[in-house]
Amino acid sequence: MPVLNVIGPKLGRCNICGAVGPLTEDHIPPKALAQNIALRLNHLVSVLGAEKAPPGTKMPDGIKFRSLCQRCNGVVLSRYDKALVAMADQVTAMLRTPILLNGSQTVRVKPQLVARAVLGHLCALGINRYNEGDPQKFGEYVLNDQSTFLQDCRVCYWVYPFAGRTVARDLFITYTGTKIASQVMIMKCYPIAFAIIVNKTLPLDGWQPPSFDFYASLGPDDEVEIPIYLDQIPDQIWPEMPHRDGNMVAMLGEAAYVAKLSSPRGQVLKNRLKR
Ligand SMILES: [Zn+2]
Repeated sequence: MPVLNVIGPKLGRCNICGAVGPLTEDHIPPKALAQNIALRLNHLVSVLGAEKAPPGTKMPDGIKFRSLCQRCNGVVLSRYDKALVAMADQVTAMLRTPILLNGSQTVRVKPQLVARAVLGHLCALGINRYNEGDPQKFGEYVLNDQSTFLQDCRVCYWVYPFAGRTVARDLFITYTGTKIASQVMIMKCYPIAFAIIVNKTLPLDGWQPPSFDFYASLGPDDEVEIPIYLDQIPDQIWPEMPHRDGNMVAMLGEAAYVAKLSSPRGQVLKNRLKR
């Protein structure tokens, strides 16, 4: 069984800014959000049972790609990560409090920065993928905090009280009989899951999580109260596993991974309700 420390060359093109030079390691999800714990990394397709695959790869230090330059990783993303961690800390506190909370809560976040943290780390997935995709603007969305990212794409979030982590940038979701299709990128890691729906007109399967659409015109450092629904938690494998006939999820690239722990982490929300 191969043991990988990091995936990617030491020199190459940064997936966010396109500069060619030394590359640095990026943890996905970011290190500040997820502890560096030994994980078994499986390709998403094998986890969903779509095809037989060899057992996963051991990643002793979490999921790491060497695909970002020093500036994008250390300067650009570290600013956004602070906003992401601040949001995650508030949700973690809700999940861990012994007080029985009402199903609908709020947290204070900077949506423009949180959304760019998620996109930036998902851009790190894969090697030599600068501005790949449709629209080919991912790098600009990350680098320019005034860019129209939240106007163009839907960033959804929901509580994720599970141990496993899933990151994917190459999912394409469509519905049989319609012409709506979209690239969907996901980053799921206790306590929050995010999905970036590149084509906003695509509804997700069965349930529409809250999104940052309302905050698309905010400034980068504007902070708002956003809802957190403790009583609306989809299955762990949603939305990458279609629940209904007629919905199709296709993997068009390689960059989709699920990391599993051997045993669930403690403090999983006890009274979670099925949607
Ligand atoms: Zn860069």
